[in-house]
Amino acid sequence: MQDQCGRTISYLRISVTDRCNYRCRYCMPAEGVEKHAHSEVCSFEELRNMAAAAVRCGVKKIRVTGGEPLVRRGIVDFCRLLKRIDGVEELCLTTNGSLLPELAAPLKAAGVDRLNISLDTLRPERFAEITRCGTLDEALRGIETAEAAGFEQLKLNCVLLGGVNEDEIVDFVALTREKPWQVRFIERMPMGVCTTYGAYLPARTVPERCPALEPIGSEGVASLYRLPEGKGTVGLITPMSHEFCGECSRIRITADGRLKPCLHSDAELPLRGLSGTALEDAIRRGILEKPAQHHLCAEGVTETHRAMNEIGG
Ligand code: SAM
Ligand code: SF4
Repeated sequence: MQDQCGRTISYLRISVTDRCNYRCRYCMPAEGVEKHAHSEVCSFEELRNMAAAAVRCGVKKIRVTGGEPLVRRGIVDFCRLLKRIDGVEELCLTTNGSLLPELAAPLKAAGVDRLNISLDTLRPERFAEITRCGTLDEALRGIETAEAAGFEQLKLNCVLLGGVNEDEIVDFVALTREKPWQVRFIERMPMGVCTTYGAYLPARTVPERCPALEPIGSEGVASLYRLPEGKGTVGLITPMSHEFCGECSRIRITADGRLKPCLHSDAELPLRGLSGTALEDAIRRGILEKPAQHHLCAEGVTETHRAMNEIGG
């Protein structure tokens, strides 16, 4: 279905939990998040029904995210349910990778088509510093197991943090010489309580530091580049420096069952308790209310009161 700006809405991101086993400094406070009562979080059956209604409204691609989606018990069965919805063409999941050693093969068998794995540094000490409680080793093992399970063309998400990991841009780009991965550099967005970790760094810094990169077009909201002879690609995601709202095809559902037409707007529509045409009508209303653009800028702050771990990026 199209929104009022003529954008076709075909991509749903579902956050299944706001909890996480990491505390990345640009995403979550050190003390974690206030634990919601069990009853505030939608059951997988509720989320599945919301997703099915969104598919009836034109969604074709679903991404499961969080918090860390793999910490929620039953996640593999949930993915299987999503994949069985008639009309779902692509099922993706974003993870910090730490639980992939146990879950990559079951997720593949459940029908997950693609994985995005977050990796902000290739240095063990820095990894521990950024995530506060993760190890590089477990993340790398996660990537390895995902490949062994048959996930091809992995996407690695790297948030650009000025003064923190900017000296690794060249190393990350170099990975794409031998690996068929897409390394995606994401501009850090000022969300929640974590707006001051790392300086804002525009994504154009990447081709400036790696002049061998050649532009090869775009894919969704990512501008793509490649090293000559590189097996993989480099993607730049520029929510701050270059607004891509005109091409946005996304809606989001939070773990407490609210539809968010825009990542950075406070507008939310409660979906819980609705079913059948009432549920579809609410989703259609949300799509029609999708704002033309968000109002983030390098110095600005988001209009949403939610932190990134609640929405899922
Ligand atoms: N836990 C999973 C992970 O880290 O991949 C999924 C959820 S996480 C919120 C989804 C993506 O959002 C990750 O790639 C993460 O790096 C990114 N992210 C989190 N906070 C961000 C911020 N303030 N600005 C830009 N990206 C952010
Ligand atoms: Fe957890 Fe992902 Fe946020 Fe890091 S970015 S704290 S792994 S939700």
